[in-house]
Amino acid sequence: MLEAVTTSPMALRLDGKQLASELETRLRQDIEAATAKAGRPPGLAVLRVGDDPASGVYVANKEKACARIGVASYGSHLPESSSQADVLAAIAALNADERVDGILLQLPLPSGLDEGPLLAAIDPDKDADGLHTLNLGRLLKGEPGPRSCTPAGVMALLARHQLPLEGKRAVVVGRSILVGQPMALMLQAANATVTVAHSRTTNLVEITQQADVLVVAAGRPRMIGAEHVKPGAVVVDVGIHRLPPPADAPEGTKAKLCGDVRSEEVESIASALSPVPGGVGPMTVTMLLVNTVVAWAKRHGISHGLGDLVV
Ligand code: NAP
Repeated sequence: MLEAVTTSPMALRLDGKQLASELETRLRQDIEAATAKAGRPPGLAVLRVGDDPASGVYVANKEKACARIGVASYGSHLPESSSQADVLAAIAALNADERVDGILLQLPLPSGLDEGPLLAAIDPDKDADGLHTLNLGRLLKGEPGPRSCTPAGVMALLARHQLPLEGKRAVVVGRSILVGQPMALMLQAANATVTVAHSRTTNLVEITQQADVLVVAAGRPRMIGAEHVKPGAVVVDVGIHRLPPPADAPEGTKAKLCGDVRSEEVESIASALSPVPGGVGPMTVTMLLVNTVVAWAKRHGISHGLGDLVV
């Protein structure tokens, strides 16, 4: 007689690639329907300074996404030797450019440039990344405005799978302005009770084990494992890291991507888990497009069907 084998069910996969593709279809339809009224398509300008190779790939991906849905790209690439004044002048020109609805300053910048004043110089209504101080303040106050793309993408992913947040205990690991802080505000706005952990948190396991919803944005490869996760929790892995192949790997072996979560340990404990790659990453690019299309609609007094994504 065969012995019964009990296996834990695998966590629901929070597939950001699939959702991003669905949202691109919606965005393309919205753009097609309203371009005649607006007199022009939405425009996104990605401003790149210097030659950081990873940035080159990210900028190309954003421009390809724009092309897929009918957003015009007005990117510019300034040389590594650009001064603060050169970049400020480029931002001022994009602020004044009537064809441009969204501006993104690709980070990191070459050393010697001070990113704070440059981000602050972007017209807040064209702030495609949602990182301008005014827009972070709008998020804090629950006022409309472009939202930070990565946490907004996480919220869209949770909503798509109808994962409840109201009254849930949420823990965000990481408190950066880019991810952790706006993430915590968005979860709180959705009526979760939120705890933010960071590098000085002393009892991380104890805290993360209480989470019904655990969002990890610590930038530490594979730091969160089985011991951190309460059975049935929803786990969102924001981290993304390129692990170099082992020294003895055959020549030509590609670098592997991983997140902040040891997914092979967590997928049999969590009720839902976002993969890396294919989870939060594609959603970040999509929310950049959402911010641009919403800004375009607003400038032209056009209604849009994206209200469910504008948290
Ligand atoms: P960051 O600016 O380096 O912030 C990391 C945060 O994690 C900090 O608040 C830090 O605490 C905290 N932290 C570091 N080590 C910790 C530890 N051992 N225990 C608890 N907290 C710890 O990084 P970020 O920009 O927020 O990005 C986080 C990760 O998300 C990175 O892997 C990044 O590549 C990834 N990311 C992905 C996307 C995407 O689209 N998928 C977008 C943005 C970022 P302190 O404040 O005390 O230093």
